[in-house]
Amino acid sequence: MKLLEYKAHELFKRFNLPCSDGNVAVSLDELKSLKGKVNFPAVIKAQVQTGGRGKAGGVQFAENDAELIEKGTNILDMKIKDLPVNRIFITDKVEIDKEMYLSFTLDRKHKKTVMIFSPEGGVDINEIAEAHPEKIVKVLINPADNIDDFVIEYAMDKTGLDRSYLDEFKNVCKKLYDVFINMDCMLAEINPLIIDKNNKIIALDGKIDIDDNSLFKHRDIRIFKDEIEENPLALDARNFDFLYIPVKDEGNISVVSNGSGMIMSSIDLIAKKGMTVTSALDLGGGATAERIKEALRIVASNPKVDTIFINIFGGITRCDEIANGIKSAMKDLGKTRLVTRLEGTNKEAGLEILKSIDADIQLADGLVNGVEKLAQEMLV
Ligand code: GDP
Ligand code: MN
Repeated sequence: MKLLEYKAHELFKRFNLPCSDGNVAVSLDELKSLKGKVNFPAVIKAQVQTGGRGKAGGVQFAENDAELIEKGTNILDMKIKDLPVNRIFITDKVEIDKEMYLSFTLDRKHKKTVMIFSPEGGVDINEIAEAHPEKIVKVLINPADNIDDFVIEYAMDKTGLDRSYLDEFKNVCKKLYDVFINMDCMLAEINPLIIDKNNKIIALDGKIDIDDNSLFKHRDIRIFKDEIEENPLALDARNFDFLYIPVKDEGNISVVSNGSGMIMSSIDLIAKKGMTVTSALDLGGGATAERIKEALRIVASNPKVDTIFINIFGGITRCDEIANGIKSAMKDLGKTRLVTRLEGTNKEAGLEILKSIDADIQLADGLVNGVEKLAQEMLV
């Protein structure tokens, strides 16, 4: 799970990394309420899940309250790389002497953590790699160990960062490494990590990607994920540990299936027949009747959905459980049409249950047949 900058900043503060104070605003009213709380000059930054905000005009400076309101409103109205800006982050402007790059991430090949440092930061790390390959250093760290002083010293010497920064640089590296390890990160990045006019090293922009498998350990982060989720159906689904995927606004079909491969092949085949999927829901493994009922309720609550394609390959998931779930969901589904393909564990028992339901459920034999039945339904 990727965090927005202001949330990464919050973690930096929690782990005592040097960074300036900041405030978040989601609306003009909130922006106005910051009057008197912001130190000028200030930086206003769009909070969107992408880099290159600076280049896109999503990072602007304000000298006073009037500029803060004007430029803040302007950024809140922006779209950056098609992402609407719903939040801005306002921090004290720092006088920059030098922009550097520092990150910890996973090196899958070596099964280790890798520290990446460059004293030439501020731009994308790939650009630095192209322009100044000699100015990037990568050091592998055994994830069971702490980061050793010699690793940090090596990184400095190799890239020519002056030894006078040793203590501060050590401090930043160790604290960012703490964030990386303690928050179960796949990436913890500061870009730019800057040296200010007083020779202080400060984190100016943070990018954090936390392993979703660890979110059960980080309740506050999980809550944040819900906070920024703007699709109510995705939220509803997440409460049941389902993955809800909005596909195309103009579609009318929802695919309910177990496994991402099953979902993708269903969507592809349906599209090939000229039909359009509007959403998909991944049930995950071992779905019970009760959970199927909830899943169908969630996708059907989108008024655009008039047809649901249920495509199940039963393994740990049993087809009779699925069928019982469908049965108990029927009264919630109204006029929604169902095409169901069951395969695998307890298929026959599942089909018997579906046949006993007094409603129009198309039973398909195989995926291709399922999509054909969908096409027939569309003609009715
Ligand atoms: P990104 O473009 O999405 O990576 O956003 P950043 O937060 O990294 O900001 C982009 C650029 O804006 C930085 O590389 C800096 O050059 C500049 N910038 C951001 N904050 C400050 C600041 O406090 N002071 C100054 N002087 N420049 C800043
Ligand atoms: Mn940046």
